[in-house]
Amino acid sequence: PVDRSPEMQEARLKLPILAEEQVIMEAINENPIVIICGETGSGKTTQVPQFLYEAGYASSNGIIGITEPRRVAAVSMSQRVAKEMNLSHREVSYQIRYEGNVTDETKIKFMTDGVLLKEIQKDFLLSRYKVIIIDEAHERSVYTDILIGLLSRIVPLREKKRQPMKLIVMSATLRVEDFTENKRLFSAPPPVIQVDARQFPVTVHFNKRTPFDDYSGECFRKVCKIHRMLPPGGILAFLTGQAEVHSLCRRLRKAFPFRKNKVEGDGDKEDTVEEISKFKKSRRKKTMTLPKIDLDSYSVMPVDEGDEDREAETDDEDIAGSDHDLDLGDDETEEGEKSDSSLPLYVLPLYSLLAPEKQAKVFRPPPPGTRLCIVATNVAETSLTIPGIKYVVDCGKVKKRFYDKVTGVSSFRVTWTSQASANQRAGRAGRTEPGHCYRLYSSAVFGDFEKFSPPEITRRPVEDLILQMKSLNIEKTVNFPFPTPPPTDALVAAEELLIALGALQEPPKTGRLTELQKAKLSCPISPLGTVMASFPVAPRYAKMLALSKQYDCLPYTITIVSAMTVRELFEEFDRPAVSEEETEKLKGKRARVVQMQRIWAGQGASQKLGDLMVMLGAVGACEYAGCTPQFCETNGLRYKAMVEIRRLRGQLTTAVNSICPDAGLYVDPKMKPPTAAQVTYLRQIVLAGLGDHIARRIQAEELLDEKWKNAYKTPLLDDPVFIHPNSVLFKQLPEFVVYQEIVETTKMYMKGVSAIEPE
Ligand code: ADP
Ligand code: MG
Repeated sequence: PVDRSPEMQEARLKLPILAEEQVIMEAINENPIVIICGETGSGKTTQVPQFLYEAGYASSNGIIGITEPRRVAAVSMSQRVAKEMNLSHREVSYQIRYEGNVTDETKIKFMTDGVLLKEIQKDFLLSRYKVIIIDEAHERSVYTDILIGLLSRIVPLREKKRQPMKLIVMSATLRVEDFTENKRLFSAPPPVIQVDARQFPVTVHFNKRTPFDDYSGECFRKVCKIHRMLPPGGILAFLTGQAEVHSLCRRLRKAFPFRKNKVEGDGDKEDTVEEISKFKKSRRKKTMTLPKIDLDSYSVMPVDEGDEDREAETDDEDIAGSDHDLDLGDDETEEGEKSDSSLPLYVLPLYSLLAPEKQAKVFRPPPPGTRLCIVATNVAETSLTIPGIKYVVDCGKVKKRFYDKVTGVSSFRVTWTSQASANQRAGRAGRTEPGHCYRLYSSAVFGDFEKFSPPEITRRPVEDLILQMKSLNIEKTVNFPFPTPPPTDALVAAEELLIALGALQEPPKTGRLTELQKAKLSCPISPLGTVMASFPVAPRYAKMLALSKQYDCLPYTITIVSAMTVRELFEEFDRPAVSEEETEKLKGKRARVVQMQRIWAGQGASQKLGDLMVMLGAVGACEYAGCTPQFCETNGLRYKAMVEIRRLRGQLTTAVNSICPDAGLYVDPKMKPPTAAQVTYLRQIVLAGLGDHIARRIQAEELLDEKWKNAYKTPLLDDPVFIHPNSVLFKQLPEFVVYQEIVETTKMYMKGVSAIEPE
């Protein structure tokens, strides 16, 4: 029996999924595997675990597990469900990569999909769980896909052992045929239950013209217009990344300050009565000049239908009525830049890496007299439902990492999102009442979007997955029941890399093997591979850890590997500044960072370690200073990255200690710099992990073309690669270097470079 508060009970009853409780529970009781589809906000994540709990699935020491592809969702959903059920975090808990509050009393456990994969390695049958819910399956994250493949085998095994376990796959879209029509995955297609969402109509307004570059600016102007002209209701703006989110938040706060000179209001102080009434007056004044907006004349089209028809009513004039031109016109004057404190806007950022207490703010009502405006990345697309959103502003873009399958060169690119994603975004506006979605691109551009985003597993290298699978004794990875298999060449590349790293046993050398034969090879894991698989980092880095016991190098390797895994230790100073003042500030900061990097790069032998020595020095110095935000701010380090590195160091230290208890490692905040001998050994370790990431400097006599000036040649690429100007080795240009990765921006740049010249 669950003792919910009356308000909670009332709120729950409004959710569409409540009406389906009986149908859902009957399906689950009668079938080992069930798929539940329902629009974002219909109540899947918060309610299904409660149905199961009330039906007794968490009694007699079994627990209910729910996986989320994002850490944000795992944390916030566990808190929400605990609150709804009036249970403590000891019973409704979460576990994400570095932290959690799981106890012996835990009954409902939210976790990231990666965490569950690790648990399968410890206990293949997941004996503690009575039910596993795979949430957000439509996102098709790599780990979600692998989990579904594994669970398709675990469920029948549990059945055989007469300890049945239920599998529930939940999706925000109806596109589940990769699961239902994949005979290798589920020989009998599982039943699909569709929850009708109470989705209010959302009118979609396309831009007439599409700004190809400045979508952030366009987004700013659009939010300003909505705030000035349209009736109350929260605004949710989608941008592509953290930096963009912050910069738009800053601009909006400046344009509509919500308390005098106070940029970020937390809403705990009451706004003065005077301020509120001033706000109300100003609102009245502004909106009175507008024609009354008649909700009945809004389109009643469901979000995902009738694309062709939308063009006609996309003209913004339609909403406002007539004379008030709401068309954001690409040449809009920047009236919004002028500060207008009579129209307070409560602006909050939302992105995956934002601290949980800051994320939680979006669920609370905005301070009285203000309008809520959330500037978010993709995370608000399906994982989190923010109450009270009436307007969605969608830039239509998404930032993704792209990999070259052959060379592994990666680049972050901002591209158009898919039609499915854009429709999900639009849907965020119609949760509580009819809403509007402003797309900052034309309907013609929308028509060219791909229908769905391809699953992640088809787009990235898979060596980490293959190593994890091999350690689960899945030898023939080509035969694994992937919902969508990775391309064969990605599988081959992964196995080849793992063989080169010594993680897999080498195949018998019987003449030449064709690619396909190689792919079908089933190299078993080696003892080294087993050790490597126990480290929660990429196989290359795991190899470095596995080699580091000699010369007491482990603490250094752990630190370097943590820093390489977290990436981007330093703040980005190359961004365009918004004012002269800021330009100066950025200049000063950059100079300071360059100076510090030179210090952290060390003297003599240490310098050869290059960027990796800088990482080591930066982390060492930061920890020595207590890892404070001030230290990071002064020295241009990203505080968030440093905190994450600290956690990863702790986690890797624990992992090493459990494999070799005599190591007796601990995370030393006062770590001494490595000795010359240790540096030499560290360089060998780095080479062992990154042996195929070697580049040679082009000599003067080889210079045939200007584009090769100061360039390096790698075995895999025909084109020149360069040392990034932010590298400490940028000016030295050693003859041979080893790099962490190549990222393509304006040129192909090597990152994380160290020298491999002889002593
Ligand atoms: P789904 O998983 O189907 O997208 P959820 O179960 O996440 O739906 O959300 C159901 C409802 O619960 C949403 O409409 C949302 O408004 C509400 N909700 C979810 N999390 C919170 C929270 N932390 N605070 C307040 N309301 C929340
Ligand atoms: Mg959900």
